[in-house]
Amino acid sequence: MRTAVDIAAGVRAGELSALEVLDEHLERVVLREAEIHAFNHLTEEAARAAATGLDRRVAAGEDPGPLAGVPVALKDNLCTEGVPTTCSSRILEGWIPPYTATVVERLVAAGAVPVGKTNLDEFAMGSSTENSAFGPTRNPHDVTRVPGGSSGGSAAAVAAGFAPVSLGSDTGGSIRQPAALCGVVGVKPTYGTVSRLGLVAFGSSLDQIGPFSATVADAALVLEVIGGHDPGDSTSLPGSFPSVSEHLDDGVSGLRVGIVTEMMGDGIAADVTARVRAAADALAAAGATVEEVSVRAVTYGLSAYYLVAPAEASSNLARYDGVRYGVRVEAATAGEMMEATRTAGFGDEVKRRIMLGTYALSAGYYDAFYGKALKVRTLIRRDFDAAYERFDVLLSPTSPTTAFPFGDKTADPMAMYLNDVCTIPTNLAGHPAMSVPFGVGDDGLPVGVQVLAPALGEVVMFRTAAVLEGSVR
Ligand code: GLN
Repeated sequence: MRTAVDIAAGVRAGELSALEVLDEHLERVVLREAEIHAFNHLTEEAARAAATGLDRRVAAGEDPGPLAGVPVALKDNLCTEGVPTTCSSRILEGWIPPYTATVVERLVAAGAVPVGKTNLDEFAMGSSTENSAFGPTRNPHDVTRVPGGSSGGSAAAVAAGFAPVSLGSDTGGSIRQPAALCGVVGVKPTYGTVSRLGLVAFGSSLDQIGPFSATVADAALVLEVIGGHDPGDSTSLPGSFPSVSEHLDDGVSGLRVGIVTEMMGDGIAADVTARVRAAADALAAAGATVEEVSVRAVTYGLSAYYLVAPAEASSNLARYDGVRYGVRVEAATAGEMMEATRTAGFGDEVKRRIMLGTYALSAGYYDAFYGKALKVRTLIRRDFDAAYERFDVLLSPTSPTTAFPFGDKTADPMAMYLNDVCTIPTNLAGHPAMSVPFGVGDDGLPVGVQVLAPALGEVVMFRTAAVLEGSVR
């Protein structure tokens, strides 16, 4: 399969037709989408028109940009003007956004070709896509297993070769965990480096958009296009995204790598930790020094996250009231209409989060729960900062296990939440982290190794990822 880097180079040079590239990918969609269900909505016609336009521009001597002719799949919580955006929720049925997310505008301006909107856990709440109102996505490596979540459709789309790259969102692990389970690269960049304008909000202080791809270089290329300041997002950092691509071959010689002790023990499968140790060995062989490091407060990450994220979600989801968006269930009074609409429109997990968050924010409980979680969040950031005084990057598993069978964890919310123990602390700290495929577990399914870095440490994170990619056996 072609990489985004190769496609863009070929199309820009006039050696590859954007339309032919698109058709190659759409042929794979025809063959496997019925089985995989990566997409909520395909935009083939618009994609063909865009690709044809790109080929014409190249023929006329124009350069369409760094992603010329690259098909992209978009998580269905990214607003696309004129194209339905459902968040895989009944409550948004029939809603069509009046504007396009900044990241999508930037992709298109760089020559990329959106092919469709991908499936997710409803409002990005979940770790398996089993919470989608439209049915789950299946893992392309084994269709009896989940692709991870919440961005399972975006991960599966890349793993199945439906698109060389896709976008997801990561609030507690929703890019990295499905990337690990589907055997692709997934990146959560530093909070504030990629605009959230047009991303349907879940936990606003945690949400970040990032890429999925088959290669580390493709993820770097996409981030350089979508990243950088956006005046439309008040949490957007000034300046442009660091240029990571030019450092991919810098190696890790002299780099200090720390394996996070707390993420290598209880609850993490032995075949997964074995792959992390193999990754550490590969980095050592490439000239890095590797040691274990304790980042104690990360053990409280899950508890803090399940107060902060639901609190923010309960506030963000208050807007789905039957008045402004999507579905309305009529009733005698406005209050009853809102209650009936929200009862019918939201799935069980979303309701659970709204109740958790409302409780944690209510008078008398605010300080005990939400306030305390914010303090723990600070502790986690401090413990990471202390580790980064001694280490350039940290290493851990991305997910505690490889892809699990459908239904395995749906009866017990806590079992599902535990999928994100290794990814959540990064979101609470606002730091970047990425998952890199590094071989397979005992069941032959992909294992992802997580590379974590301090805020704005994307260059060193990608250098490490590139070495892992080059040394995987
Ligand atoms: N699985 C986590 C949750 O359910 C993370 C989701 C995400 O990152 N969007 O909240």
